[in-house]
Amino acid sequence: MVIILPMITKNFLTFDIEEWFHANYDGIDPSQYDFRSTNLEANVDRLLAICDAFNVKSTCFILGDVARHKPYIIKKLFDAGHEIASHGSSHRLIYPMKPDEFHADIQSSSDILEQIIGEKVVGFRAPSWSVRPDTLPWFYDILAHEGFLYSSSVYPAKNTLFGIPNFPDTPHYPSPLNILEIPQSVMNLFGNRVGYAGGGYLRFFPTWLIKRMMREKNREEKSVFIYLHPREIDIHQPRLKLGLMNGYFHYQGIDGCEKKLSSLLEEFSSSFCRMDAYAKQVAAGKILL
Ligand SMILES: [Zn+2]
Repeated sequence: MVIILPMITKNFLTFDIEEWFHANYDGIDPSQYDFRSTNLEANVDRLLAICDAFNVKSTCFILGDVARHKPYIIKKLFDAGHEIASHGSSHRLIYPMKPDEFHADIQSSSDILEQIIGEKVVGFRAPSWSVRPDTLPWFYDILAHEGFLYSSSVYPAKNTLFGIPNFPDTPHYPSPLNILEIPQSVMNLFGNRVGYAGGGYLRFFPTWLIKRMMREKNREEKSVFIYLHPREIDIHQPRLKLGLMNGYFHYQGIDGCEKKLSSLLEEFSSSFCRMDAYAKQVAAGKILL
């Protein structure tokens, strides 16, 4: 008898939990800024309230340095049922690092997160989607060595700052090491792939378009993930000194972002699951890719 497993399409709500100054632009050094007296906890509380309102559990990729300075925020997210995953230690880009530097960076981040929550961390997101084709072989190797189950680190397109064009745009195993990659969701715009469901893309594109794309992808049985940072709902945050283009991309659309997120959750709330639950079901053969 042939058993046909159902294709279950799930969407993901993810947050990269970091401060307003964690950005990888030339001339910006996050170590120069102060973790004290920021709006991070208040912003996280607002995101938690939105999740509660629509009964959605998110995956939170948390910076080790945030966990070290503000462990109570991680505990609060964990106690509310959200997944605690790793965003590395100090928001360093992956590709300039040597493999052993990256290894030490994620070990340090996992150590502090696991100390706070008392559970193994199984998910990783690269700061600023900073994996490149030349880093991929050792990147997944080191994640596997550290017991991670999945990564959500690749933008399968190209912009001025990051991305790997021609990378598969759906969850898959990119190496034989059993690390599931859940790449950023992209749409086809005039023949080019472009993000639409997170960060500056989510803030830029209108809600109706994002919803239309999500419906379309889900009809094709493709997962979509939303990603946001706490600063992206905060109109009162201090501003980094960025050039015209980077400054626009970094700050446009912040005033309407919270409402946009609520509207997306209102329509799609029942389809969301945590990435760790999804990766475990894929590994167990309960979800077919
Ligand atoms: Zn980040």
